[in-house]
Amino acid sequence: MFIVWKGKKVVLALLLLILAECALSAFLIVRNLPSKKASLIDFTVVIDAGHGGIDGGVVGADGVKESDLNLAYSKELGALFERAGFAVVYTRKSEGGLYGLPTKGFKLRDMLERKRIIEEARPNLMISVHMNKFGASYRSGPQVFFQEGSEQGRLLAQSLQRAFNDFVGKDREALAGDYFVCRETTCPAVIVECGFLSNEEECRSLQTDKYREQICNVIFNGTMLYLYSA
Ligand SMILES: [Zn+2]
Repeated sequence: MFIVWKGKKVVLALLLLILAECALSAFLIVRNLPSKKASLIDFTVVIDAGHGGIDGGVVGADGVKESDLNLAYSKELGALFERAGFAVVYTRKSEGGLYGLPTKGFKLRDMLERKRIIEEARPNLMISVHMNKFGASYRSGPQVFFQEGSEQGRLLAQSLQRAFNDFVGKDREALAGDYFVCRETTCPAVIVECGFLSNEEECRSLQTDKYREQICNVIFNGTMLYLYSA
């Protein structure tokens, strides 16, 4: 009888211990769960979807607007960073532009608003997403640009261009230039031209879910390679 009672006591004690552990684990899990906007990594990436609103950017032969594709690619890319635990700030998450009223000087107001959002985010990295156009239709493939004189911008751009080259089987160099969003951003910043809307075949590919996912994965992986080697 005593032995059984002792056994019951042990069982009860074990049960209580297990329950206590479960409660503790649940508490720790809940406490550590990130809120919707919290991130697991103290590292902020700004994703800048180029153009928007009355500024559609370049237009494909089928009428597709660069601004709409930029937005779709930016959301997809941002989701990849968010899933990996990064904090992500988007300059725009809708089709509208950032200029307020579509009146004279809208382009400058749009650019200044991007600059304001980027400055406020104090990012560790900025990726501006665009689609390309060229007079002749044969040109295709992604191209990465960085601000002339920015060493980290160059390294990030080269890492992304290498990842793109592997993906599309080309041998392109990342190109330097003078670009407002890169010049006005103090962190490593790049402009990614995902492909040419002036190339009919690529224009069609760029509009498919599969190609968008692939391109965004390449950008994400190229960024990771840059961070590992930085
Ligand atoms: Zn553009």
